[in-house]
Amino acid sequence: LDPQMQAALPVLLRLEEACYEGVFVGGCVRDLLLGLPLHDVDIASSATPAEAMELFPDAIPTGLQHGTVTVRHGGRLYELTTYRTDGEYADSRRPDKVEFVRSLEQDLQRRDFTVNAMAMDRSGRLIDPFGGQADLQRKTLRAVGTAGERFAEDALRLVRGIRFASVYGLSFAPSAWRGLIASREGLRQIAMERIGAELDKLLAGGGLARGAALLAASGLASRFKEPLPSLAGAAAACSARGGALAASMQAASRLQRPDDGWAALHLLLKQTPEQARQSFATLRFSTARQERLAAVLSVHGGLLRLDGAAGRVEMARLVLELGEDAVRHGLSFLAEAEKTGLAPHLFAGGEAPSTGRLIGWLEELPARSLKELAIDGRRLQHELGRRPGPWMGLLLKRLLEAVMLGEVPNEAEALAMLAASWMEGE
Ligand code: ATP
Ligand code: MG
Repeated sequence: LDPQMQAALPVLLRLEEACYEGVFVGGCVRDLLLGLPLHDVDIASSATPAEAMELFPDAIPTGLQHGTVTVRHGGRLYELTTYRTDGEYADSRRPDKVEFVRSLEQDLQRRDFTVNAMAMDRSGRLIDPFGGQADLQRKTLRAVGTAGERFAEDALRLVRGIRFASVYGLSFAPSAWRGLIASREGLRQIAMERIGAELDKLLAGGGLARGAALLAASGLASRFKEPLPSLAGAAAACSARGGALAASMQAASRLQRPDDGWAALHLLLKQTPEQARQSFATLRFSTARQERLAAVLSVHGGLLRLDGAAGRVEMARLVLELGEDAVRHGLSFLAEAEKTGLAPHLFAGGEAPSTGRLIGWLEELPARSLKELAIDGRRLQHELGRRPGPWMGLLLKRLLEAVMLGEVPNEAEALAMLAASWMEGE
């Protein structure tokens, strides 16, 4: 067993003491067999949600209708899901009703792919009725049961299939691929938010280039409920093998944070900031996330304009224009792009600026925001003997600009004097 599974053993033992079954299931078993680090350890159990809540009184009923409660143990959270079968799927999205059962095998049968339909008990014994381990060894992605039916039940599985194939380097079994092609119109039923979540995991797992190629080859890229031009474009680019873009997509695949992947995708495909904004809204990213992504694209745009001529003053102007937070988001992205070898592809023709140097210039600025200005509104008001008003904000901004451009030291007295001289001049 993996140390993370070891840590969860008391939860399984507690279930067994009460005469229920409890096993590790799904992604953690798959990742363990692949020798990969586990991200979360999920547990399946014969205990119903009510029984589980009784055994673990402080469990959180996170998804009772699907049989899931979240159990806390040793400072970690575990999703504990009751063995279940899924009823009829009327809409290619969610089962109309789920039924709790007492057999693990029935539970494994409702799962999407053989590599995800394995369980492991507390002694490390593998429960693998559909040959998931053999499929992993053959690097094959195969549906549990008849692929066409499984994809028709839930079209999100199409995107999940692309994700698992891309991240783990699996090939679709011929039957799975045929089923996927036959079911692809069902994708139009799936909420963009859920697709976004799968694509995030694809990006986090290094699957960008392979995922884009598979989305193109399968025709899924053009069958989302709402269009995602960047993804369709990436797909087309990746299928045009050997192109320069294919090489840069490979470099972008090495980015680990999903947002870095999204930013890289839009930059490599030369999407306008407006097009990018549209995609991120379509994927229902949170406002904060959309703003961060917009910041990354703006900083890249700003540096592109400088064409390698960046210096301390240019950095000051960038911070004045976009704000410190935005610049930091942008530089954090560029630092990752530098590590993965992507950076030169983002500054085609010109040379990629060194992020170390850019960060140095940022840190050397005498101030980066009003917070760091040696004078605040209250003191300014006092020094100038004026009533508060909109003039204050404007004046503080001008002072910050003067400090950042090195025209005046960041000291309260000097700033007050400069402000007074401006007021006199007006
Ligand atoms: P990851 O480790 O990246 O989270 P995962 O395999 O754990 O991958 P989850 O989305 O967390 O993926 O789902 C957990 C398990 O639940 C899967 O391994 C699979 O057995 C099952 N599962 C999840 N979504 C579906 C689905 N849409 N249809 C069928 N089974 C599913
Ligand atoms: Mg998981």
